[in-house]
Amino acid sequence: MRKLEESRERKLQRVLCNRCGKDLRVENGILKEGCLSVDYCFGYFSKKDGTKIRFDLCEECYEEITSRFAIPVEISEDTELLGV
Ligand SMILES: [Zn+2]
Repeated sequence: MRKLEESRERKLQRVLCNRCGKDLRVENGILKEGCLSVDYCFGYFSKKDGTKIRFDLCEECYEEITSRFAIPVEISEDTELLGV
């Protein structure tokens, strides 16, 4: 869950993990912790057609939830971040 400033800049104020409620570290409007942010709109073939969802998960909750997946999450490295 994200809280933005009421001002015109709408700077990021706070990010809470929707699962455990952890208050993630935000400094000067920048999130300084790992966070899985989901912002999704269910489409036409879904029973939730047109329903928008948004939530945030801290890294610990992400690890716990995905460790129970029948098929593991696909993991690769983002070479752009490595500057290769
Ligand atoms: Zn959490």
